Amino acid sequence: MPKLPADLYRRWIETAFPPPAFHDGFIPPERWLQQIWRHQRLLRDALRTIEGEELRVLHPGFWNRAAGPDFRGAILRFGESTVVRGDVEIDLVPAGWKGHRHAVNPAYRNVVLHVVWDADQDGTGRPALALRGHLDAPLAEMAPWLSAEAPRTLPEGVRGQCCGPLRALPADTLDELVRLAALARLERKAEAFAARARHAGWHRSLWEGLLGGLGYRNNTWPMRRVAELVGPGDAPAPEDLEGAQASLLGVAGLLSAEPPRRNPARFRALWDRWWRDRDRFHGSILPVDAWRLGGMRPANHPQRRLALAAHWISGRPPFGAIDAWMAAGGDAVSASEALRGILGAGADPFWERHWTLGSASLEIGQPLLGMARATDLAVNAVLPWLLARATAGGDPAMRRRVEERYIGWPAGEENSVLRLARQRLLGGARRVLPRTAATQQGLMGLERDFCGHSDALCSGCRLPDLVGGWMAGAAP
Ligand code: SF4
Repeated sequence: MPKLPADLYRRWIETAFPPPAFHDGFIPPERWLQQIWRHQRLLRDALRTIEGEELRVLHPGFWNRAAGPDFRGAILRFGESTVVRGDVEIDLVPAGWKGHRHAVNPAYRNVVLHVVWDADQDGTGRPALALRGHLDAPLAEMAPWLSAEAPRTLPEGVRGQCCGPLRALPADTLDELVRLAALARLERKAEAFAARARHAGWHRSLWEGLLGGLGYRNNTWPMRRVAELVGPGDAPAPEDLEGAQASLLGVAGLLSAEPPRRNPARFRALWDRWWRDRDRFHGSILPVDAWRLGGMRPANHPQRRLALAAHWISGRPPFGAIDAWMAAGGDAVSASEALRGILGAGADPFWERHWTLGSASLEIGQPLLGMARATDLAVNAVLPWLLARATAGGDPAMRRRVEERYIGWPAGEENSVLRLARQRLLGGARRVLPRTAATQQGLMGLERDFCGHSDALCSGCRLPDLVGGWMAGAAP
């Protein structure tokens, strides 16, 4: 079997989902608008409603794929008003509100923002946002990423139609295909970093990406909002770790005025720093209900994650160290340990022994950054960011080095998305793919890129034919 061409996966995506012809009057499909809102691919610092009011998105809400508004539980701030909580409905045009009879449907009573593609008036009697003009990158640049949705809930234990053709591939060809899917995923993440860096700068874009990664699944948006408010250069003074922790926890709304029963002295030290500083953030402090604190592992508690992030803006800014780390050689395993050393905190006696400000002391100290989270930060933030910079700087040698490091990176933790992808794409076969993060990323990429366009029965999915065609020697 011939080696797969480096651009094969990209060609498959273009064949399966040909990009539309973009022109001035182009109107994207509604599901693109949902993806833009969901991932906030917006100039978040410059949002204005159609009515001309400043809009801050503290949380975009949770995507609702059942009946009712598109996003539930958003947290927004209009102008200088207090924080508003409610739902967000997305329609292509303002007339969609009446046309879809939302106005008379009680399920839409709690909609606090109507999002449309382009309009200069809305007429729903609610604040409205026109996305066109607020995107963080041109639509054509975002199109490959927008065209796939996060897969719907798919039945577990059911093999997809691609399972047979994929399992028929020689082992090294399957490995190569998964690797190409992983590289395509890396590229798309890099493009998102580049888009953010154009407006916020390289350091800021990495900082926001790192904090978003620390938010894990449920707290990505409040983490990113904190990162927009406090960042590199905002620590009260160099080496002032306590001041940086007070700022981050205070802006996050995670320092209540009431001291916890345990560790009151630690709380008081942070509070005393924060209350002198908090006027600076008047109106921006996140409400505590922006956070989802239930059902998470203690190590993922945002208080502890923000305590770690404070190290990055006080005594140990990682940006220069990351450049040096990339320039240094070494295999991916030693590089992953080294990156953990860069992103891991220096000495932090309190947070090494506590999950939260009010928790009991742990018998055995725990590092603020474990290897699993370091891997997440590497594949979702650090390496995409480095690739984006190498691309922007026209440095193909650096691009190659970043890709090699990504491909060799040790595997992270398994999750439900991965298990589902293995089952549907590979039938849960015990076939051995390399135990690397890139294998995991590639499987998740295939699922997002192809399953995201299809359904539980794989209706219309082109992947089985593309794989079968390649086996039979047919292009593409
Ligand atoms: S939708 Fe396509 S990629 Fe997903 S399992 Fe079915 S055939 Fe495979």
